[in-house]
Amino acid sequence: MKLRIKKGDQVEVITGKKDNKGKRGEVIRVFPKEGRVVVQGVNLLTKHQRQVQSEGKTINPGIVKLEGPIDISNVMVVCKKCNKPTRVGMLRDGEKVSRVCKKCGAKLD
Ligand SMILES: [Zn+2]
Repeated sequence: MKLRIKKGDQVEVITGKKDNKGKRGEVIRVFPKEGRVVVQGVNLLTKHQRQVQSEGKTINPGIVKLEGPIDISNVMVVCKKCNKPTRVGMLRDGEKVSRVCKKCGAKLD
């Protein structure tokens, strides 16, 4: 399956956990095999960091927030032109295939 979401895309969470729903952010990682993405500021997991010694440096204890991956089917790409979450269409132009907004037809790349 070809992924229609790439790193750097602006996406909106359309379904899933209540605290994530409706949030927008940039895709910072894509896991194509798992069909999951990491979106900046979405699905924050709290980790309690213990004080550790690493290569002579001390990492202070505290609470670290890290984005957890979410299912790719829970997000939709936000079109830059119409500013709405949209389904992505594929437009073939000779050898090149562009992703387009299904709502307004604007190219997404
Ligand atoms: Zn659009």
